[in-house]
Amino acid sequence: MAITMTSINETLFEKSQQLIPGGVNSPVRAFRSVGGTPVFFKKGLGSKLWDVDGKEYIDYINSWGPMIVGHAHPVVIKAVQEVAENSLSFGAPTGLELEMAELINKLVPSMEQVRLVSSGTEATMSAIRVARGFTGRSKLVKFEGCYHGHSDALLVKAGSGLLTFGEPDSAGVPAEVAAHTLTLEYNNTQALKDLFSKMGDEIACVIIEPVVGNMNLVVPHMEFLQTLRELCTKHGAVLIFDEVMTGFRVHLGGAQALYNIKPDMTTLGKVIGGGLPVGAFGGRKDIMSCLAPLGKVYQAGTLSGNPVAVTAGLKTLELIQAPDFHAKLTAQTKKLVDGLIEAAKEAGVIFNAQSVGGMFGLYFCEKCPASFHEVMQSNKEHFNKFFHSMLDSGIYLGPSAFEAGFVSAAHSDADIAFTIAAAKKAFALVATAH
Ligand SMILES: *Cc1c(COP(=O)(O)O)cnc(C)c1O
Repeated sequence: MAITMTSINETLFEKSQQLIPGGVNSPVRAFRSVGGTPVFFKKGLGSKLWDVDGKEYIDYINSWGPMIVGHAHPVVIKAVQEVAENSLSFGAPTGLELEMAELINKLVPSMEQVRLVSSGTEATMSAIRVARGFTGRSKLVKFEGCYHGHSDALLVKAGSGLLTFGEPDSAGVPAEVAAHTLTLEYNNTQALKDLFSKMGDEIACVIIEPVVGNMNLVVPHMEFLQTLRELCTKHGAVLIFDEVMTGFRVHLGGAQALYNIKPDMTTLGKVIGGGLPVGAFGGRKDIMSCLAPLGKVYQAGTLSGNPVAVTAGLKTLELIQAPDFHAKLTAQTKKLVDGLIEAAKEAGVIFNAQSVGGMFGLYFCEKCPASFHEVMQSNKEHFNKFFHSMLDSGIYLGPSAFEAGFVSAAHSDADIAFTIAAAKKAFALVATAH
């Protein structure tokens, strides 16, 4: 007779749900989309994670991007320990912040001036306020399926018609706030042209993920990005590249370097903190000069530029400047994707995958999607079966069919081979499920 043992993991989740809404501090962690119990972790090293019950996993979330050099990298950990001994925070300027600003400006030259914050949400929220202050306009344009953090103005979905104003995508967001946000279809160049010809001169800014990593992975069409750049320039709208996810991940200089398009403003997060809370926004000097104390746009933060967090970021950015870092990361991610496509083909499962730099997308549909609508065609049941089989085998993927995946510099050939072997088993299971 089998004895059911309650794992530490299950106990923690049960207790957490009493005190923390849904048992988690960010919704996707709750496994609602794939079902089952979320994994509680206690340790990470390189490409590996260990849960509270001691089970080992190869990690393809990497804290949603930041752990690009792998978990607990000794260089990062040592520097953080050392700087922590000099106090955790001052609420006053430090030389570390200047170092970070210089490095950002060197790696992402379109960021002529930069200000540090503590999350990606803060970075995008502040960038939009500056853009509105600079232009004196209110309208904000975003794209369906892109995520820019959880501030009110950005939790907006498309209205019913192409050129209608947005509706709140969350309870608690006033319709009046959402009304200033317009949502267009990603990669739809004609919709962009139509919008700008109708109200281009009312648009304060357009915010976009230059490679989308928040509706699985969606790659931009060059013509779409180029048209966007031209229209913003022509109408005096501020073009904001939200590179919170793509920054330092798809290329050392971000997606703007990969595609050679210069935005007016850029937001950063994730990798820039190396696992501690850092975000940044910056761009053209004339725009950034509108910020207090120079200008009339207010923005502030008690822990902005925190020395410990900035140190983790600086060390991470130092490591990713190693020769061929991104070439290797890109090749390793491609190797994973190619292996998965091959394994699915062998099993006769409808599947596709692609990668940009160290980000990848897995799709249980025929072709790689170009818009939110196409992403939604992916077979969610198949993904969930695949996800749980992989999790059983010790492969930790994003717990939703609509999240991108991340590879770090610590992922070895053996990790990739192990993952593909596990995927063969998982695809075989998907193939029999009807
Ligand atoms: C993660 C993310 C954000 C939000 O960053 P937080 O640090 O979670 O607030 C904003 N934009 C993009 C593109 C992101 O991927």
